[in-house]
Amino acid sequence: VRYAGQLTGARACGTVPAPCPSSLAAMPHILIVEDEVAIADTLIFALQSEGFSTHWLTLASAALAYQQATPADLWILDVGLPDLSGFEACKQLRRFSEVPVLFLTARNAEIDRVVGLEIGADDYVTKPFSPREVAARVKAMNDGQRALRVTVNNKHTLSCLD
Ligand code: CA
Repeated sequence: VRYAGQLTGARACGTVPAPCPSSLAAMPHILIVEDEVAIADTLIFALQSEGFSTHWLTLASAALAYQQATPADLWILDVGLPDLSGFEACKQLRRFSEVPVLFLTARNAEIDRVVGLEIGADDYVTKPFSPREVAARVKAMNDGQRALRVTVNNKHTLSCLD
């Protein structure tokens, strides 16, 4: 298991300068599926600060349709959505896409369910909420690392990579 040391290293990613405009088209595209505006706003800001392009949707059904038309490179998926649960959305997503999914969940019971049914998680850290840490995890996942879980405040972040 890897703990705070890894996050400390990842935090340094925040100092990377924004990409020049000519490279923006090639930046990874992150789909944020989250119905809480404040959380979505902070994630969008953190991810764009890291040079990612983002698209924000509040419904799982809209996100599934979006992915079929405009494949994102990674999803940040809230478990508690107004239409489908994040778990059900991930199952439906997996029928046509292997895009990495970073779960946002609020309850330990949800963590157990994700770990038990969706993924074999191998990493776990507990930190105060920091969108930049989530952004660092997205960056790590995009770089091909299997960074699987973060707990941030009462929000738990998990990735479902397969
Ligand atoms: Ca929610």
